[in-house]
Amino acid sequence: MDTGKGWLKALRLSILVVLAASAVAVGLAESRLAHRLIEGLGYPALCQELFSEVQSNYYMVRGLHPPQGVRLNIVNLRWVEENWAAGDGGDGELEVEEAIYKALMLIPDDVSLAAIRRRRALSIMAAAAAGEVYVVEDYFNPLDRVEASKTLAHELTHIVQGYYFPVQDHVSTSFDESQAWNALIEGDASYTADMYVERLKASEGCSAQGRGGEMPRSMVELWLFPYRYGVGFVSHLYDVGGWMLVDKAYYKPPNTTEQILHPEKYLMGEAYREVASPKPDGEYRILRTDRLGEYFVRVFLSTHISPETAAKASMGWNGDNFTYYKLDGGGDLFAWSIAWDTREDQEEFHASIKEFMTAVEATPLGDNAWRIGWRQLTVTEDTAEGGYVTYLEISAGREPRHTWEENPPWDTGYGVPSAVEAVDAESPPRPRAASSIGERGRCGEDPSVGLWEI
Ligand SMILES: [Zn+2]
Repeated sequence: MDTGKGWLKALRLSILVVLAASAVAVGLAESRLAHRLIEGLGYPALCQELFSEVQSNYYMVRGLHPPQGVRLNIVNLRWVEENWAAGDGGDGELEVEEAIYKALMLIPDDVSLAAIRRRRALSIMAAAAAGEVYVVEDYFNPLDRVEASKTLAHELTHIVQGYYFPVQDHVSTSFDESQAWNALIEGDASYTADMYVERLKASEGCSAQGRGGEMPRSMVELWLFPYRYGVGFVSHLYDVGGWMLVDKAYYKPPNTTEQILHPEKYLMGEAYREVASPKPDGEYRILRTDRLGEYFVRVFLSTHISPETAAKASMGWNGDNFTYYKLDGGGDLFAWSIAWDTREDQEEFHASIKEFMTAVEATPLGDNAWRIGWRQLTVTEDTAEGGYVTYLEISAGREPRHTWEENPPWDTGYGVPSAVEAVDAESPPRPRAASSIGERGRCGEDPSVGLWEI
């Protein structure tokens, strides 16, 4: 793979554009860069020059000085493929995740999560890892000064976060919590980068160079969460209390996607309830138990019904537990217990499940049971004192049976926390803190074809 040619082609294009626009202020600066390039100053020097500029201007935007001597690494796609696009380390976690997504109909049965992950890694334009910044030369174009500065300011913010705040010590105990944490991290980085380019009189938009290929919308929605909603969260904090309130959030981080979606709930300290999943009869192993959160409920519904209905139906979330049981007698059981603030919230979710079942042309097996392909799905509700809980069970090839009495719905001590935050300290460094279900993505109106900075 000749990675050099890719950026050269992009560079040539940019030179044309830049020369034509050399009368405007930004264009003048770019023109200067373009001339330097023509004079023989190469791609690495251009990247380095821009990075130095971002480092020296950074304090004026974020109010924190970046550490000295941050290294900028220029890598190519082949390097990314070898170092960041590898599998899940052979511990079977990827298979567990894939089974969960398929049970919930988030991705089609014939889709490989490993292939999606690989494609996603190959769309990375820039990253921060182990205190250093990486740009992928196949995508990163230093002559597109506004977009390139934005990207570098974003990545530099990740370095600043690691330098000033206890981000290395943070451990998420659920998918929901890791999404909320990532939203703070990515929201701060993107908000800072936006502010940075505002100073450059930026025009909005991503330098999308469709290389990512098609990915299931649901996966992209999950990956994009920290970006799309993290910025709104951080800008809300900034509006209320400036950078001081944003900085404080690192010491009292949001721990649910509900708090990110509704920042006022974070500021009011709205918590969630611990929920237990019903245990199956007989012997079993637990392959995964996790809290998925309001946003995951939304994505689950919106995979098959309208985003508006899905957003409305997932509101009122008050906690959940998803557990994947491997039954010794054979078969899988996916049990999802979701708690709601009110009976109305619970009913709204129930109605949306029925709409979902109609949309996927499920075969009704009774009032609240359906068959869809290999799955059998049942919904039961608990409206007893203590809360409103919906139990959604998906089983393959067997009747879901459980004993409610032995396992009360409210069991605050419940849970085998899953390790969702896997910080890879191995060399070469991987992009920071990849979580086991969701990774992070990049801005873009059509995320399935955008590039990613992580
Ligand atoms: Zn990032």
